[in-house]
Amino acid sequence: MSVADNLKDLHKIIETAAGAAGRDAARVKLVAVSKKQPEARIDEALAAGQRLFGENRVQEAQSHWLERRLQYPDLKLHLIGPLQTNKVKDAVKLFDVIETVDREKLAHALAKEMAAQGRDLPCFIQVNTGEEEQKAGVFPTEVREFYDYCYYECGLNIKGLMCIPPVDEPAALHFGLLKKYADELDLKELSMGMSADFEQAIALGATSVRVGTGVFGARAAG
Ligand SMILES: *Cc1c(COP(=O)(O)O)cnc(C)c1O
Repeated sequence: MSVADNLKDLHKIIETAAGAAGRDAARVKLVAVSKKQPEARIDEALAAGQRLFGENRVQEAQSHWLERRLQYPDLKLHLIGPLQTNKVKDAVKLFDVIETVDREKLAHALAKEMAAQGRDLPCFIQVNTGEEEQKAGVFPTEVREFYDYCYYECGLNIKGLMCIPPVDEPAALHFGLLKKYADELDLKELSMGMSADFEQAIALGATSVRVGTGVFGARAAG
């Protein structure tokens, strides 16, 4: 299957899943996760009209996108991986949406850097719905307080929530939780669902799904 075929299929599946849930498919964005993918496949996705991409590392994102950005002014890039404060400057320069705001120090650094660069990027708070020790994201009990900090203290443009469910639990449970937390804060955007479970995520309210292998095929190892 070519990347173009994959994208076409995915759009059909998204439409069907949204329809089944009584939702408008136009409210579900497909973020093509291009991390660890060969340059040729990224170019295939662009040739097929895909303009929304996700990356989980700033440095790799720069190598994939700094030049392509100039060629495709309508490109949109989401940061979907953990962000170190020493990379905030580069991240604010390159990305259009930061999905992984997960601690006060980072929120503060992002706000300061956006002010310096005159950018006001939409941000998501990453929620560690499974309360996993090794995973990034704020714990469910801390979401409201952290949101208040981001919004009122830092002035960050928080649009929604994002989660990565634990691998050994039903994803739907975590998608449902994330939706509930977003509703409580009156946040409209929900980034949830990957190649294996994005249909369930759409059924539970996802407004963007992050699909890597489903778009591009298997990633390089490492
Ligand atoms: C890699 C990655 C994805 C895409 O995963 P696939 O299973 O390839 O669709 C989605 N979200 C995040 C945060 C990722 O790091």
